[in-house]
Amino acid sequence: MSGNWERGVRRVVPYTPGEQPSGDVIKLNTNENPYPPSPKVKAAVDAVSDGRLRLYPDTVCRELTAELAAQAGVEPEQVFIGVGSDDVLSMAFLTFFNTDEPVLFPNVTYSFYDVWAKVYGIKYKTVALDKEFRIHTQDYFEKNGGIVIANPNAPTGILLGLEEIESIVAANPDSVVIIDEAYIDFGGKSAVGLTARYENLLVVQTFSKSRSLAGLRIGMAYGDKKLIKYLSDVRFSVNSYTMNTLSQVGGLAALRDREYFEKTRAEIIRVREYSKAKLEELGFSLTDSAANFLFAKPSGKTAGELFSALKARGIYVRWWDKPEISDRLRITVGTKEQMDALFAALKELL
Ligand SMILES: *Cc1c(COP(=O)(O)O)cnc(C)c1O
Repeated sequence: MSGNWERGVRRVVPYTPGEQPSGDVIKLNTNENPYPPSPKVKAAVDAVSDGRLRLYPDTVCRELTAELAAQAGVEPEQVFIGVGSDDVLSMAFLTFFNTDEPVLFPNVTYSFYDVWAKVYGIKYKTVALDKEFRIHTQDYFEKNGGIVIANPNAPTGILLGLEEIESIVAANPDSVVIIDEAYIDFGGKSAVGLTARYENLLVVQTFSKSRSLAGLRIGMAYGDKKLIKYLSDVRFSVNSYTMNTLSQVGGLAALRDREYFEKTRAEIIRVREYSKAKLEELGFSLTDSAANFLFAKPSGKTAGELFSALKARGIYVRWWDKPEISDRLRITVGTKEQMDALFAALKELL
């Protein structure tokens, strides 16, 4: 029997993440870290007792929150933790973007922002980047219901300086400004310090990229105590047990192993700079990426052709069939061996 039940359905077009192919492929398509997480993570997770797993997890992630706060130089009440930064950002959209004015974000940026706006019924307006994919701060000085900026931006990799971030936050005291710092550890200066002076600033980060823990799903936000309280109130109105025990324990171990973090992120930065030069030799033009990926425009073949030809050889990169960026590939910085395999394949194809 079929009635008209679909009239009440909330219909959405979901976000499409990069492919997760199985088997022996070179995976440079979703900006994961090519190195394993700190060995201390596995040791800490293995040591969790059955007795602890039997119980509900700590709803407020007390230890992880305290360590994040200490390392960032803020109070624990200024830290929010979620199931990856996607969860943190989704909760932040739901909490802070609730007026009739449009939320502003760049026309080329993380493609989840418009998906959240749509699912929550939030009005939004995209702001065009310039021809070099740069963000101009004064474009964000008009009346708005909130602002989201990824810094460095994705998939361009281009970084805004702290003064530019501050000028946007300072010009918008009547809106919440979210700075998504998923890639900040690969070369940028975090805006966390600005939260001491601006109540309207929320800075979001993740363990998925620089800490090699995309699989544990841990993201965090820093902000004024009042801002964080509003965010927590909404979260606890949706689900109180979001952060599972193993993620809390593993995340804490990763955070405490600073030496490993510094070593692996320095290596990724080194391979990124090496890869930029190699791609330029192969005729690509690149943005000045401060992230763990490169945004590269080929010459000779189209980006779409290269994307398919590389995939046929088991090398996965990312390509979007969107007018502003369809002439570019986004290539995650892998190990030097993975990158050399990519360059060898490109050499043959071009
Ligand atoms: C990867 C990414 C995220 C989401 O990461 P999580 O794995 O959910 O923490 C958020 N924003 C940007 C810009 C990203 O690239």
